[in-house]
Amino acid sequence: MHEEPSSTPAGSHNPRNNPRQHKKPTRRSAAPTQHLSGSGPAPAGSNHAAQSAAASTAGSPSSAPQGRQRHEVAASSLGESNGAARRSAHQASQAAPSAGSSAQAPASSQPLSPEAAARAAYDEYAAVTEQPYPGSATAHGAQRHAGYAGYAATNPRVNPARKTTDQAAPYADYTRYTKKPKKKAGIVSVILTVVILGAIGAGVFLYLNPPSFNTVVNGMTCTVDSGTTVADLIADGVVSPEPGNLVAVDGEVIEEGKGTPFTATINGEEVVDPATAVHKNDTVQISAGTDIMEDYDAKTVEKKPKTTTLGEGAIHAIITGESGTVEKRTGKISGKTVKEVTKPVVNNTYFSYNANTGDDKVIALTFDDGPWPTTNELLDVLKEYDVKATFFTIGEQIADYPDAMKREVKEGHQITTHTWDHASGSGNGVDLTLMSPEEQVEEVTKGQEAVTSVTGGEAPTAFRAPGGNFHDDIIWNVAPYVSYEIGWNVDTEDWRTPGADVIADRIMSAKSGDIVLMHDGGGPRTQTIEALKIALPKMIEKGYKFVTIDELLAYDDAKALAEEAQKAQDAQDAAE
Ligand SMILES: [Zn+2]
Repeated sequence: MHEEPSSTPAGSHNPRNNPRQHKKPTRRSAAPTQHLSGSGPAPAGSNHAAQSAAASTAGSPSSAPQGRQRHEVAASSLGESNGAARRSAHQASQAAPSAGSSAQAPASSQPLSPEAAARAAYDEYAAVTEQPYPGSATAHGAQRHAGYAGYAATNPRVNPARKTTDQAAPYADYTRYTKKPKKKAGIVSVILTVVILGAIGAGVFLYLNPPSFNTVVNGMTCTVDSGTTVADLIADGVVSPEPGNLVAVDGEVIEEGKGTPFTATINGEEVVDPATAVHKNDTVQISAGTDIMEDYDAKTVEKKPKTTTLGEGAIHAIITGESGTVEKRTGKISGKTVKEVTKPVVNNTYFSYNANTGDDKVIALTFDDGPWPTTNELLDVLKEYDVKATFFTIGEQIADYPDAMKREVKEGHQITTHTWDHASGSGNGVDLTLMSPEEQVEEVTKGQEAVTSVTGGEAPTAFRAPGGNFHDDIIWNVAPYVSYEIGWNVDTEDWRTPGADVIADRIMSAKSGDIVLMHDGGGPRTQTIEALKIALPKMIEKGYKFVTIDELLAYDDAKALAEEAQKAQDAQDAAE
Protein backbone atom coordinates (compact mmCIF):
# COMPACT_ATOMS: atom_id res chain seq x y z
CA MET A 1 0.00 0.00 0.00
CA HIS A 2 3.05 2.24 -0.10
CA GLU A 3 1.95 3.45 -3.52
CA GLU A 4 -1.15 5.11 -2.18
CA PRO A 5 -1.18 8.86 -1.85
CA SER A 6 -0.96 9.97 1.78
CA SER A 7 -4.38 11.62 1.50
CA THR A 8 -6.09 8.29 0.81
CA PRO A 9 -8.03 7.05 3.86
CA ALA A 10 -6.54 3.96 5.44
CA GLY A 11 -8.15 0.68 4.42
CA SER A 12 -9.77 2.07 1.32
CA HIS A 13 -9.39 0.58 -2.10
CA ASN A 14 -7.71 3.21 -4.10
CA PRO A 15 -9.23 3.13 -7.60
CA ARG A 16 -5.82 4.17 -8.89
CA ASN A 17 -4.70 0.66 -8.03
CA ASN A 18 -7.64 -0.84 -9.90
CA PRO A 19 -7.37 -0.14 -13.60
CA ARG A 20 -11.00 -1.07 -14.31
CA GLN A 21 -12.38 1.17 -11.64
CA HIS A 22 -10.02 3.93 -12.59
CA LYS A 23 -10.90 3.77 -16.24
CA LYS A 24 -14.62 3.43 -15.88
CA PRO A 25 -15.93 5.05 -12.72
CA THR A 26 -18.99 3.30 -11.33
CA ARG A 27 -21.76 5.01 -9.51
CA ARG A 28 -19.92 4.16 -6.29
CA SER A 29 -16.70 5.82 -7.32
CA ALA A 30 -18.47 8.75 -8.92
CA ALA A 31 -19.80 10.19 -5.68
CA PRO A 32 -19.43 13.97 -5.65
CA THR A 33 -17.51 14.05 -2.44
CA GLN A 34 -14.95 16.52 -3.53
CA HIS A 35 -17.59 18.78 -4.93
CA LEU A 36 -19.60 18.48 -1.76
CA SER A 37 -16.83 18.90 0.73
CA GLY A 38 -14.89 21.34 -1.36
CA SER A 39 -11.58 20.13 0.07
CA GLY A 40 -10.57 16.61 -0.62
CA PRO A 41 -11.93 13.39 0.87
CA ALA A 42 -14.55 13.65 3.52
CA PRO A 43 -13.56 12.17 6.86
CA ALA A 44 -15.08 8.73 7.23
CA GLY A 45 -17.91 8.59 9.74
CA SER A 46 -18.68 12.30 9.59
CA ASN A 47 -21.97 13.81 8.45
CA HIS A 48 -20.18 16.90 7.31
CA ALA A 49 -20.44 15.67 3.74
CA ALA A 50 -24.20 15.43 3.91
CA GLN A 51 -24.54 18.96 5.11
CA SER A 52 -22.19 20.23 2.53
CA ALA A 53 -24.08 18.33 -0.12
CA ALA A 54 -27.30 20.00 0.84
CA ALA A 55 -25.77 23.45 0.90
CA SER A 56 -23.83 23.09 -2.27
CA THR A 57 -26.52 21.38 -4.29
CA ALA A 58 -29.19 23.83 -3.21
CA GLY A 59 -26.92 26.81 -3.80
CA SER A 60 -25.82 25.90 -7.31
CA PRO A 61 -27.74 23.12 -8.97
CA SER A 62 -26.68 24.22 -12.42
CA SER A 63 -23.05 23.64 -11.56
CA ALA A 64 -23.62 20.06 -10.53
CA PRO A 65 -22.77 18.40 -13.84
CA GLN A 66 -19.48 20.21 -13.93
CA GLY A 67 -18.98 19.15 -10.36
CA ARG A 68 -19.43 15.57 -11.35
CA GLN A 69 -17.02 15.92 -14.20
CA ARG A 70 -14.45 17.27 -11.87
CA HIS A 71 -15.18 14.51 -9.48
CA GLU A 72 -14.61 11.77 -11.96
CA VAL A 73 -11.10 13.02 -12.34
CA ALA A 74 -10.67 13.24 -8.58
CA ALA A 75 -12.49 9.97 -7.87
CA SER A 76 -9.34 7.97 -7.77
CA SER A 77 -8.39 9.45 -4.42
CA LEU A 78 -11.76 9.26 -2.76
CA GLY A 79 -12.17 5.63 -1.80
CA GLU A 80 -14.16 5.02 1.34
CA SER A 81 -15.58 8.49 1.58
CA ASN A 82 -17.57 7.77 -1.56
CA GLY A 83 -19.14 4.80 0.08
CA ALA A 84 -19.81 6.85 3.17
CA ALA A 85 -21.52 9.50 1.11
CA ARG A 86 -23.69 6.98 -0.68
CA ARG A 87 -24.62 5.10 2.48
CA SER A 88 -25.60 8.38 4.07
CA ALA A 89 -27.80 9.02 1.10
CA HIS A 90 -29.57 5.76 1.80
CA GLN A 91 -29.96 6.64 5.45
CA ALA A 92 -31.65 9.83 4.43
CA SER A 93 -33.95 7.94 2.10
CA GLN A 94 -35.25 5.93 5.12
CA ALA A 95 -37.24 9.02 6.03
CA ALA A 96 -39.14 8.61 2.78
CA PRO A 97 -41.56 5.62 2.32
CA SER A 98 -38.98 3.55 0.46
CA ALA A 99 -35.59 3.70 -1.15
CA GLY A 100 -37.19 3.08 -4.50
CA SER A 101 -39.37 6.16 -4.23
CA SER A 102 -36.69 8.51 -3.04
CA ALA A 103 -36.85 10.39 -6.30
CA GLN A 104 -40.45 11.26 -5.59
CA ALA A 105 -39.81 12.43 -2.03
CA PRO A 106 -39.54 16.13 -2.86
CA ALA A 107 -43.10 16.01 -4.36
CA SER A 108 -44.65 15.55 -0.89
CA SER A 109 -46.26 18.65 0.66
CA GLN A 110 -45.61 17.48 4.22
CA PRO A 111 -43.21 19.56 6.33
CA LEU A 112 -39.82 17.92 6.15
CA SER A 113 -37.33 17.21 8.90
CA PRO A 114 -33.89 18.80 8.36
CA GLU A 115 -32.52 15.45 7.24
CA ALA A 116 -35.44 14.84 4.88
CA ALA A 117 -35.00 18.33 3.51
CA ALA A 118 -31.37 17.56 2.83
CA ARG A 119 -32.46 14.36 1.21
CA ALA A 120 -34.91 16.16 -1.00
CA ALA A 121 -32.30 18.65 -2.04
CA TYR A 122 -29.92 15.85 -2.76
CA ASP A 123 -32.42 13.92 -4.84
CA GLU A 124 -32.95 16.97 -6.94
CA TYR A 125 -29.25 17.07 -7.41
CA ALA A 126 -28.95 13.34 -7.91
CA ALA A 127 -31.54 13.42 -10.65
CA VAL A 128 -29.03 15.40 -12.60
CA THR A 129 -25.80 13.98 -11.29
CA GLU A 130 -26.90 10.44 -10.36
CA GLN A 131 -24.80 10.72 -7.27
CA PRO A 132 -25.70 8.75 -4.17
CA TYR A 133 -26.60 10.58 -1.08
CA PRO A 134 -23.90 11.01 1.49
CA GLY A 135 -24.63 9.11 4.70
CA SER A 136 -24.41 9.88 8.38
CA ALA A 137 -21.83 8.60 10.80
CA THR A 138 -24.14 6.06 12.43
CA ALA A 139 -25.44 4.70 9.17
CA HIS A 140 -21.98 4.33 7.91
CA GLY A 141 -20.79 2.62 11.09
CA ALA A 142 -23.72 0.20 11.15
CA GLN A 143 -23.26 -0.80 7.57
CA ARG A 144 -19.60 -1.26 8.00
CA HIS A 145 -20.32 -3.84 10.70
CA ALA A 146 -23.09 -5.47 8.70
CA GLY A 147 -20.68 -5.96 5.83
CA TYR A 148 -21.66 -5.92 2.21
CA ALA A 149 -24.61 -8.31 2.65
CA GLY A 150 -26.26 -6.05 5.14
CA TYR A 151 -25.58 -3.09 2.98
CA ALA A 152 -26.85 -4.75 -0.17
CA ALA A 153 -30.06 -5.84 1.55
CA THR A 154 -31.09 -2.25 2.02
CA ASN A 155 -29.22 -0.74 -0.89
CA PRO A 156 -30.24 -2.13 -4.27
CA ARG A 157 -27.30 -1.39 -6.43
CA VAL A 158 -29.45 -0.38 -9.32
CA ASN A 159 -32.67 1.46 -8.97
CA PRO A 160 -34.57 1.25 -12.27
CA ALA A 161 -36.74 4.17 -11.21
CA ARG A 162 -33.70 6.37 -11.06
CA LYS A 163 -32.03 5.06 -14.09
CA THR A 164 -31.02 7.69 -16.63
CA THR A 165 -29.53 7.46 -20.06
CA ASP A 166 -25.96 7.77 -18.92
CA GLN A 167 -26.23 4.98 -16.40
CA ALA A 168 -24.40 2.57 -18.64
CA ALA A 169 -21.43 2.18 -16.35
CA PRO A 170 -23.00 -0.03 -13.65
CA TYR A 171 -24.57 -2.38 -16.21
CA ALA A 172 -21.36 -2.52 -18.16
CA ASP A 173 -19.82 -3.76 -14.97
CA TYR A 174 -21.95 -6.93 -15.14
CA THR A 175 -20.18 -8.11 -18.24
CA ARG A 176 -17.60 -9.67 -15.99
CA TYR A 177 -20.23 -12.17 -14.89
CA THR A 178 -21.51 -12.89 -18.35
CA LYS A 179 -18.00 -13.63 -19.51
CA LYS A 180 -17.63 -16.65 -17.23
CA PRO A 181 -19.36 -19.28 -19.40
CA LYS A 182 -16.89 -18.57 -22.16
CA LYS A 183 -14.41 -21.00 -20.58
CA LYS A 184 -16.79 -23.91 -21.14
CA ALA A 185 -17.56 -22.74 -24.64
CA GLY A 186 -13.81 -22.58 -25.32
CA ILE A 187 -13.32 -26.24 -24.42
CA VAL A 188 -16.25 -27.26 -26.57
CA SER A 189 -14.99 -25.27 -29.50
CA VAL A 190 -11.50 -26.81 -29.15
CA ILE A 191 -13.01 -30.30 -29.22
CA LEU A 192 -15.16 -29.35 -32.19
CA THR A 193 -12.15 -27.93 -34.01
CA VAL A 194 -10.15 -31.12 -33.40
CA VAL A 195 -13.02 -33.25 -34.69
CA ILE A 196 -13.50 -31.05 -37.75
CA LEU A 197 -9.78 -30.94 -38.50
CA GLY A 198 -9.60 -34.72 -38.08
CA ALA A 199 -12.43 -35.15 -40.54
CA ILE A 200 -10.80 -32.76 -42.99
CA GLY A 201 -7.47 -34.59 -42.59
CA ALA A 202 -9.10 -37.95 -43.24
CA GLY A 203 -10.82 -36.50 -46.28
CA VAL A 204 -7.60 -35.04 -47.60
CA PHE A 205 -5.80 -38.33 -47.00
CA LEU A 206 -8.45 -40.26 -48.88
CA TYR A 207 -8.40 -37.68 -51.65
CA LEU A 208 -4.62 -38.01 -51.97
CA ASN A 209 -4.57 -41.79 -51.45
CA PRO A 210 -7.64 -43.18 -53.12
CA PRO A 211 -8.02 -46.97 -53.47
CA SER A 212 -7.24 -46.59 -57.17
CA PHE A 213 -6.09 -43.63 -59.17
CA ASN A 214 -4.67 -42.43 -62.46
CA THR A 215 -0.95 -42.16 -63.12
CA VAL A 216 0.97 -41.43 -66.29
CA VAL A 217 3.39 -44.18 -67.30
CA ASN A 218 5.64 -43.49 -70.30
CA GLY A 219 3.14 -40.92 -71.52
CA MET A 220 0.04 -43.11 -71.13
CA THR A 221 -2.58 -42.57 -68.44
CA CYS A 222 -3.21 -45.76 -66.46
CA THR A 223 -5.52 -46.53 -63.56
CA VAL A 224 -3.65 -48.44 -60.88
CA ASP A 225 -4.45 -49.67 -57.39
CA SER A 226 -3.08 -47.92 -54.35
CA GLY A 227 0.31 -49.39 -53.39
CA THR A 228 1.36 -50.24 -56.95
CA THR A 229 5.16 -50.20 -57.30
CA VAL A 230 7.50 -49.72 -60.23
CA ALA A 231 8.17 -53.46 -60.12
CA ASP A 232 4.40 -54.09 -60.30
CA LEU A 233 4.10 -51.90 -63.41
CA ILE A 234 6.77 -54.04 -65.11
CA ALA A 235 5.40 -57.36 -63.77
CA ASP A 236 1.86 -56.44 -64.89
CA GLY A 237 3.17 -55.67 -68.35
CA VAL A 238 2.23 -51.98 -68.22
CA VAL A 239 5.76 -51.39 -69.53
CA SER A 240 8.40 -53.88 -70.65
CA PRO A 241 11.87 -52.31 -70.41
CA GLU A 242 14.79 -54.10 -71.98
CA PRO A 243 17.27 -55.11 -69.27
CA GLY A 244 20.97 -54.24 -69.59
CA ASN A 245 23.77 -56.75 -70.11
CA LEU A 246 26.75 -57.99 -68.15
CA VAL A 247 29.80 -56.71 -70.04
CA ALA A 248 33.55 -57.21 -69.92
CA VAL A 249 36.06 -54.45 -69.05
CA ASP A 250 36.33 -53.68 -72.77
CA GLY A 251 32.54 -53.43 -73.17
CA GLU A 252 31.98 -56.75 -74.89
CA VAL A 253 28.77 -58.52 -73.77
CA ILE A 254 29.41 -61.48 -71.50
CA GLU A 255 25.77 -62.32 -70.73
CA GLU A 256 22.65 -60.66 -72.08
CA GLY A 257 19.96 -59.43 -69.71
CA LYS A 258 22.19 -59.46 -66.62
CA GLY A 259 22.50 -55.74 -66.35
CA THR A 260 20.08 -53.53 -64.40
CA PRO A 261 16.42 -54.47 -65.18
CA PHE A 262 15.28 -50.90 -65.82
CA THR A 263 15.95 -47.25 -65.37
CA ALA A 264 13.12 -45.14 -64.04
CA THR A 265 12.10 -41.71 -62.91
CA ILE A 266 9.00 -40.59 -61.02
CA ASN A 267 8.23 -36.93 -61.59
CA GLY A 268 11.76 -36.51 -62.86
CA GLU A 269 13.41 -37.99 -59.76
CA GLU A 270 15.55 -41.04 -60.42
CA VAL A 271 14.18 -44.27 -58.90
CA VAL A 272 16.50 -47.18 -58.17
CA ASP A 273 14.35 -49.30 -55.81
CA PRO A 274 11.78 -51.38 -57.77
CA ALA A 275 9.60 -51.39 -54.62
CA THR A 276 9.03 -47.66 -54.94
CA ALA A 277 5.27 -47.01 -54.99
CA VAL A 278 3.60 -44.70 -57.48
CA HIS A 279 0.99 -42.16 -56.41
CA LYS A 280 -1.96 -40.37 -57.88
CA ASN A 281 -1.06 -38.18 -60.84
CA ASP A 282 2.61 -39.23 -60.80
CA THR A 283 4.49 -39.06 -64.07
CA VAL A 284 6.47 -42.29 -64.36
CA GLN A 285 9.11 -42.93 -67.00
CA ILE A 286 10.49 -46.46 -67.23
CA SER A 287 13.25 -47.22 -69.76
CA ALA A 288 15.73 -49.93 -70.61
CA GLY A 289 18.26 -51.11 -68.03
CA THR A 290 21.96 -50.37 -68.18
CA ASP A 291 24.98 -52.60 -68.66
CA ILE A 292 26.91 -53.82 -65.64
CA MET A 293 30.66 -54.21 -66.01
CA GLU A 294 32.24 -57.38 -64.74
CA ASP A 295 34.29 -57.11 -61.55
CA TYR A 296 37.94 -56.33 -62.25
CA ASP A 297 41.30 -55.87 -60.62
CA ALA A 298 42.57 -52.31 -60.94
CA LYS A 299 46.11 -50.95 -60.90
CA THR A 300 46.70 -47.22 -61.03
CA VAL A 301 49.74 -45.96 -62.90
CA GLU A 302 50.94 -42.34 -62.57
CA LYS A 303 51.83 -40.58 -65.77
CA LYS A 304 54.35 -37.77 -65.33
CA PRO A 305 54.00 -34.67 -67.48
CA LYS A 306 56.27 -34.21 -70.42
CA THR A 307 58.20 -31.00 -70.71
CA THR A 308 57.71 -29.02 -73.83
CA THR A 309 59.18 -25.82 -75.18
CA LEU A 310 56.99 -23.77 -77.44
CA GLY A 311 57.00 -20.45 -79.22
CA GLU A 312 59.35 -17.49 -79.59
CA GLY A 313 59.48 -14.09 -77.94
CA ALA A 314 60.77 -11.98 -75.09
CA ILE A 315 58.24 -13.22 -72.52
CA HIS A 316 58.93 -16.68 -71.22
CA ALA A 317 55.94 -18.17 -69.41
CA ILE A 318 56.56 -21.16 -67.17
CA ILE A 319 53.35 -23.19 -67.23
CA THR A 320 53.62 -25.95 -64.68
CA GLY A 321 52.02 -29.23 -65.66
CA GLU A 322 50.36 -31.92 -63.54
CA SER A 323 50.79 -35.65 -63.35
CA GLY A 324 47.95 -37.77 -64.59
CA THR A 325 46.78 -41.31 -63.75
CA VAL A 326 45.96 -44.32 -65.85
CA GLU A 327 44.06 -47.30 -64.44
CA LYS A 328 44.82 -50.80 -65.72
CA ARG A 329 41.70 -52.97 -65.38
CA THR A 330 41.79 -56.76 -65.68
CA GLY A 331 38.36 -58.40 -65.88
CA LYS A 332 37.72 -61.21 -63.39
CA ILE A 333 35.45 -63.07 -65.81
CA SER A 334 36.87 -62.16 -69.20
CA GLY A 335 40.55 -61.91 -68.15
CA LYS A 336 40.90 -58.96 -70.52
CA THR A 337 43.00 -55.90 -69.60
CA VAL A 338 42.24 -52.32 -70.59
CA LYS A 339 43.83 -48.96 -69.75
CA GLU A 340 41.57 -46.11 -68.69
CA VAL A 341 42.84 -42.52 -68.28
CA THR A 342 41.44 -41.49 -64.91
CA LYS A 343 43.23 -38.15 -64.80
CA PRO A 344 44.73 -36.52 -67.88
CA VAL A 345 48.34 -35.37 -67.85
CA VAL A 346 49.07 -31.66 -68.20
CA ASN A 347 52.51 -31.11 -69.67
CA ASN A 348 55.08 -28.62 -68.39
CA THR A 349 55.27 -25.92 -70.99
CA TYR A 350 57.94 -23.29 -71.37
CA PHE A 351 56.18 -20.92 -73.66
CA SER A 352 57.81 -17.89 -75.28
CA TYR A 353 55.84 -15.09 -76.88
CA ASN A 354 55.67 -11.33 -77.37
CA ALA A 355 52.97 -9.19 -75.88
CA ASN A 356 49.95 -8.61 -78.10
CA THR A 357 49.02 -5.06 -77.23
CA GLY A 358 46.80 -4.46 -80.25
CA ASP A 359 46.46 -0.79 -81.07
CA ASP A 360 48.01 0.28 -77.77
CA LYS A 361 51.37 1.95 -78.35
CA VAL A 362 52.97 0.70 -75.16
CA ILE A 363 56.60 -0.14 -74.40
CA ALA A 364 58.12 -1.62 -71.25
CA LEU A 365 61.45 -0.10 -70.16
CA THR A 366 63.51 -2.39 -67.91
CA PHE A 367 66.60 -1.61 -65.83
CA ASP A 368 68.87 -4.38 -64.48
CA ASP A 369 71.50 -4.60 -61.76
CA GLY A 370 70.33 -1.78 -59.45
CA PRO A 371 70.03 -0.15 -57.12
CA TRP A 372 73.13 1.97 -57.67
CA PRO A 373 74.53 5.41 -56.67
CA THR A 374 72.94 6.92 -59.81
CA THR A 375 69.47 5.36 -59.32
CA ASN A 376 68.05 8.65 -58.00
CA GLU A 377 69.24 10.53 -61.13
CA LEU A 378 67.57 7.89 -63.30
CA LEU A 379 64.37 8.20 -61.24
CA ASP A 380 64.47 11.99 -61.74
CA VAL A 381 64.32 11.57 -65.54
CA LEU A 382 61.53 9.00 -65.38
CA LYS A 383 59.59 11.30 -63.07
CA GLU A 384 60.11 14.30 -65.35
CA TYR A 385 58.39 12.43 -68.21
CA ASP A 386 55.94 10.56 -65.97
CA VAL A 387 57.29 7.22 -67.19
CA LYS A 388 56.81 3.96 -65.27
CA ALA A 389 59.50 1.31 -65.58
CA THR A 390 60.49 -2.07 -64.15
CA PHE A 391 63.62 -2.60 -62.03
CA PHE A 392 65.27 -6.04 -61.97
CA THR A 393 67.25 -5.63 -58.78
CA ILE A 394 70.26 -7.38 -57.22
CA GLY A 395 69.00 -8.53 -53.82
CA GLU A 396 72.21 -8.01 -51.90
CA GLN A 397 72.39 -4.33 -53.03
CA ILE A 398 68.87 -3.36 -51.94
CA ALA A 399 69.70 -2.70 -48.28
CA ASP A 400 72.41 -0.18 -49.32
CA TYR A 401 69.98 2.17 -51.13
CA PRO A 402 66.90 2.48 -48.96
CA ASP A 403 65.98 5.97 -50.23
CA ALA A 404 66.15 5.01 -53.90
CA MET A 405 64.12 1.87 -53.24
CA LYS A 406 61.46 3.86 -51.39
CA ARG A 407 61.25 6.24 -54.34
CA GLU A 408 60.82 3.38 -56.80
CA VAL A 409 57.89 2.13 -54.75
CA LYS A 410 56.40 5.56 -54.18
CA GLU A 411 56.69 6.65 -57.81
CA GLY A 412 54.83 3.59 -59.12
CA HIS A 413 57.64 1.54 -60.67
CA GLN A 414 57.63 -2.24 -60.61
CA ILE A 415 60.38 -3.83 -58.55
CA THR A 416 61.32 -7.47 -58.99
CA THR A 417 64.41 -9.64 -58.80
CA HIS A 418 67.46 -10.26 -60.95
CA THR A 419 68.61 -12.83 -58.32
CA TRP A 420 70.33 -12.30 -55.02
CA ASP A 421 73.91 -11.75 -56.24
CA HIS A 422 73.80 -12.10 -60.05
CA ALA A 423 74.86 -15.79 -59.90
CA SER A 424 78.15 -15.06 -58.14
CA GLY A 425 80.42 -17.95 -57.28
CA SER A 426 79.56 -21.15 -59.06
CA GLY A 427 77.44 -19.24 -61.58
CA ASN A 428 80.53 -17.24 -62.66
CA GLY A 429 78.62 -14.07 -61.84
CA VAL A 430 76.25 -14.39 -64.83
CA ASP A 431 74.95 -17.95 -65.39
CA LEU A 432 72.47 -19.61 -63.01
CA THR A 433 72.45 -22.77 -65.14
CA LEU A 434 75.93 -23.55 -63.89
CA MET A 435 74.65 -23.68 -60.32
CA SER A 436 73.08 -26.57 -58.40
CA PRO A 437 69.28 -26.71 -58.30
CA GLU A 438 69.38 -25.67 -54.62
CA GLU A 439 71.61 -22.67 -55.43
CA GLN A 440 69.32 -21.70 -58.30
CA VAL A 441 66.29 -21.73 -56.03
CA GLU A 442 68.16 -19.78 -53.34
CA GLU A 443 69.25 -17.11 -55.86
CA VAL A 444 65.62 -16.57 -56.83
CA THR A 445 63.95 -16.79 -53.43
CA LYS A 446 66.53 -14.65 -51.60
CA GLY A 447 66.23 -12.06 -54.34
CA GLN A 448 62.43 -12.09 -53.97
CA GLU A 449 62.70 -11.69 -50.19
CA ALA A 450 64.95 -8.67 -50.64
CA VAL A 451 62.29 -7.10 -52.88
CA THR A 452 59.40 -7.78 -50.50
CA SER A 453 61.46 -6.29 -47.65
CA VAL A 454 60.96 -3.01 -49.52
CA THR A 455 57.60 -3.48 -51.26
CA GLY A 456 55.78 -5.67 -48.74
CA GLY A 457 53.09 -8.04 -49.97
CA GLU A 458 53.51 -11.03 -52.25
CA ALA A 459 56.84 -11.98 -53.83
CA PRO A 460 57.06 -10.96 -57.50
CA THR A 461 56.86 -14.01 -59.76
CA ALA A 462 58.27 -12.40 -62.89
CA PHE A 463 62.07 -12.32 -62.82
CA ARG A 464 65.04 -11.93 -65.14
CA ALA A 465 67.93 -14.38 -65.12
CA PRO A 466 71.44 -12.82 -65.13
CA GLY A 467 72.72 -12.61 -68.70
CA GLY A 468 69.40 -14.04 -69.88
CA ASN A 469 70.80 -17.50 -69.20
CA PHE A 470 67.65 -19.49 -68.63
CA HIS A 471 67.08 -22.86 -70.23
CA ASP A 472 66.61 -26.59 -69.62
CA ASP A 473 66.52 -27.83 -66.03
CA ILE A 474 66.64 -24.46 -64.25
CA ILE A 475 63.23 -23.62 -65.70
CA TRP A 476 61.59 -26.45 -63.78
CA ASN A 477 63.89 -26.15 -60.78
CA VAL A 478 62.62 -22.62 -60.07
CA ALA A 479 59.13 -23.16 -61.49
CA PRO A 480 57.51 -23.34 -58.03
CA TYR A 481 58.63 -19.72 -57.39
CA VAL A 482 58.53 -18.11 -60.81
CA SER A 483 55.81 -17.68 -63.45
CA TYR A 484 57.77 -15.67 -66.02
CA GLU A 485 61.36 -15.13 -67.01
CA ILE A 486 61.49 -11.81 -68.74
CA GLY A 487 63.83 -11.39 -71.71
CA TRP A 488 63.91 -8.39 -74.08
CA ASN A 489 63.12 -7.32 -77.61
CA VAL A 490 65.58 -4.42 -77.70
CA ASP A 491 69.07 -4.64 -76.14
CA THR A 492 70.53 -1.14 -75.85
CA GLU A 493 73.91 -2.57 -74.80
CA ASP A 494 74.22 0.50 -72.63
CA TRP A 495 76.70 -1.38 -70.40
CA ARG A 496 79.20 -1.03 -73.26
CA THR A 497 78.75 2.77 -73.01
CA PRO A 498 78.48 3.32 -76.78
CA GLY A 499 77.39 6.95 -76.34
CA ALA A 500 74.06 8.47 -75.24
CA ASP A 501 72.91 9.08 -78.84
CA VAL A 502 73.51 5.46 -79.78
CA ILE A 503 71.63 4.23 -76.75
CA ALA A 504 68.80 6.70 -77.45
CA ASP A 505 68.49 5.47 -81.03
CA ARG A 506 68.21 1.90 -79.81
CA ILE A 507 65.53 2.83 -77.29
CA MET A 508 63.60 4.62 -80.04
CA SER A 509 63.77 1.54 -82.26
CA ALA A 510 61.30 -0.23 -79.95
CA LYS A 511 57.78 -0.83 -81.20
CA SER A 512 54.47 -1.56 -79.51
CA GLY A 513 54.62 -4.42 -77.01
CA ASP A 514 58.44 -4.45 -76.89
CA ILE A 515 60.59 -4.83 -73.81
CA VAL A 516 63.71 -2.64 -73.76
CA LEU A 517 66.83 -3.75 -71.79
CA MET A 518 68.90 -1.12 -69.97
CA HIS A 519 70.95 -1.01 -66.78
CA ASP A 520 70.76 0.77 -63.46
CA GLY A 521 74.01 -0.59 -62.02
CA GLY A 522 77.20 -2.50 -62.69
CA GLY A 523 79.07 0.55 -64.09
CA PRO A 524 78.75 4.23 -64.95
CA ARG A 525 75.15 4.96 -65.95
CA THR A 526 75.54 8.54 -67.17
CA GLN A 527 75.03 7.61 -70.85
CA THR A 528 71.89 5.64 -70.05
CA ILE A 529 70.39 8.60 -68.18
CA GLU A 530 71.37 11.04 -70.97
CA ALA A 531 69.93 8.66 -73.59
CA LEU A 532 66.58 8.62 -71.76
CA LYS A 533 66.54 12.44 -71.76
CA ILE A 534 66.85 12.31 -75.57
CA ALA A 535 64.53 9.37 -76.31
CA LEU A 536 61.62 9.79 -73.91
CA PRO A 537 60.26 13.15 -75.10
CA LYS A 538 60.49 12.02 -78.74
CA MET A 539 58.70 8.73 -78.08
CA ILE A 540 56.03 10.42 -76.02
CA GLU A 541 55.56 12.80 -78.95
CA LYS A 542 54.99 9.76 -81.18
CA GLY A 543 52.25 8.63 -78.86
CA TYR A 544 54.05 5.87 -76.93
CA LYS A 545 53.21 5.07 -73.39
CA PHE A 546 55.46 3.25 -70.95
CA VAL A 547 54.15 0.40 -68.88
CA THR A 548 55.52 -1.97 -66.28
CA ILE A 549 56.13 -5.67 -67.00
CA ASP A 550 53.02 -6.68 -65.04
CA GLU A 551 50.95 -4.25 -67.10
CA LEU A 552 52.41 -5.71 -70.29
CA LEU A 553 51.76 -9.31 -69.14
CA ALA A 554 48.14 -8.40 -68.48
CA TYR A 555 47.56 -8.06 -72.24
CA ASP A 556 47.68 -11.84 -72.77
CA ASP A 557 46.49 -15.13 -71.33
CA ALA A 558 49.75 -17.07 -71.56
CA LYS A 559 48.11 -20.45 -70.84
CA ALA A 560 45.55 -20.00 -73.59
CA LEU A 561 48.27 -18.91 -76.02
CA ALA A 562 50.32 -21.96 -75.04
CA GLU A 563 47.37 -24.30 -75.65
CA GLU A 564 46.86 -22.77 -79.08
CA ALA A 565 50.55 -23.14 -79.84
CA GLN A 566 50.41 -26.77 -78.68
CA LYS A 567 47.48 -27.53 -80.97
CA ALA A 568 49.26 -25.89 -83.90
CA GLN A 569 52.35 -27.93 -83.07
CA ASP A 570 50.30 -31.16 -82.86
CA ALA A 571 48.62 -30.43 -86.18
CA GLN A 572 51.99 -29.79 -87.79
CA ASP A 573 53.43 -33.00 -86.33
CA ALA A 574 50.42 -34.96 -87.60
CA ALA A 575 50.82 -33.50 -91.10
CA GLU A 576 54.49 -34.53 -91.33
ZN1 LIG B 1 72.34 -8.29 -64.96
